[in-house]
Amino acid sequence: MPFQVIATDGKLPNMLYLAMKPHMYNLTSMEDVLVIGAGPIGSYTARALARQGYRVTVLEKRPYLGSPVCCAGIISPQCAKMLNLEKLPALSSFSGARIFSPRGRTIELERSSTQALAVDRGFLDLAMAESAQSAGAKFIFGSKASRVEAGKEDITVYTDNNSMPSFKSRLVVVAAGFSPRLTAALHLGKPADFAIGAQAQVEIPGSMPLTVFTSGFFTPGFFSWLEPLGNGIALAGLLCRKNTATHFNRFLHYLKETSQIISTGKPQYRGVSLKPLSRTHGDRVLVIGDAAGQVKPITGGGIFYGLKAADCAVNIIRSAFKQGDFSARELAGYQKEWKKVIGRDIRLGRLARNIYEKLDERRIENAFNAIIHSGLAQKLSEDESLRFDDHGSVVLKIIRTPAFYRTVASIMAPVNN
Ligand SMILES: Cc1cc2nc3c(=O)[nH]c(=O)nc-3n(C[C@H](O)[C@H](O)[C@H](O)COP(=O)(O)OP(=O)(O)OC[C@H]3O[C@@H](n4cnc5c(N)ncnc54)[C@H](O)[C@@H]3O)c2cc1C
Repeated sequence: MPFQVIATDGKLPNMLYLAMKPHMYNLTSMEDVLVIGAGPIGSYTARALARQGYRVTVLEKRPYLGSPVCCAGIISPQCAKMLNLEKLPALSSFSGARIFSPRGRTIELERSSTQALAVDRGFLDLAMAESAQSAGAKFIFGSKASRVEAGKEDITVYTDNNSMPSFKSRLVVVAAGFSPRLTAALHLGKPADFAIGAQAQVEIPGSMPLTVFTSGFFTPGFFSWLEPLGNGIALAGLLCRKNTATHFNRFLHYLKETSQIISTGKPQYRGVSLKPLSRTHGDRVLVIGDAAGQVKPITGGGIFYGLKAADCAVNIIRSAFKQGDFSARELAGYQKEWKKVIGRDIRLGRLARNIYEKLDERRIENAFNAIIHSGLAQKLSEDESLRFDDHGSVVLKIIRTPAFYRTVASIMAPVNN
């Protein structure tokens, strides 16, 4: 078995800790590619490159994968397919959702087929790393990349690991998640727009649908969620621009007061980029996934876009090796490619986010009424061509319905108290 199980608490699957013994790889010979970060996107990229015969090493700052987790793990069946795992660690599936207005009205969206899966995010990271390792990628844990220096013949990654302080390769892929310091040190800038996500595992009294709360009281400009995973366990979470802990405590308190949850686990917090870096490549460097801000601006979900961008990166890396040219000019094709694939969806997602953030609670309530009474909710439910990941198409489809304009008119109308 490639990974060693070092502890389980027996309660929840994602509390399983798996670790690699510190491998003393002989990296005296230069690697083709060093990937910084063993999240789903880093491991996916490492696996794809290793399968094509490149020598790949992944540097991960954490001593082990699997916990703690700060991600709802909701992905589409399409995204699950891309992960291409023998066993997907799916905990539950959703064919719809219940959305609460600020004043407690609900919209029920329901489809005939599974729209999304909830995967155990801790296990997903492990499964992806194992899959990459089986393909030939090496993993070094407990190595935080602190500096990256591109030279003429190679690129060096300096780490805080005293036993292995630096590594050389032809190319570096930064897949380090939300990591403003690292991208700034690479002269690629910091995320220009971001939120902080909070999440905790909670105990729930019974079964419930995937539930979304739009109240700005809990999350100004964003939304919060309660995601059932089965066996009386759920994830409660939210995104927020500031004072996330205060808002999250308020949300958990509300859920307890209204008997929607029984108890809560320890909250986890993580940054979520809401706008891609303006430059995601440099000499011998590519940035992918959350590190590049390839995230859905409406929901903060980043696994699908990250995988899509990773495919673009792998294509460009192959071409760079063929040409023997790792210059920023050669690697610029990566930025063009991922923008072609997910750029429009990110732009439209940002547009929708900007509109939503400008609405106060009373206008969101008005919009809710209008969405219900104009039939827009029904239309969205019934249109099976609108898929979970296609945010751009969803926004465009909504904009093109007469019901949308009736909704806008109602939002613009004087608010009802
Ligand atoms: C509360 C919350 C809920 C979310 N829910 C969803 C969801 O339901 N669906 C969805 O698609 N997305 C969701 N997301 C977003 C999703 O978690 C990210 O898009 C996804 O994790 C991005 O993967 P990644 O591999 O790019 O980065 P990460 O998963 O962040 O992985 C980066 C890895 O790099 C390591 N690392 C960081 N810095 C260094 C360094 N200097 N050196 C070495 N290693 C380093 C980290 O330890 C980590 O293991 C959510 C996010 C939050 C905060």
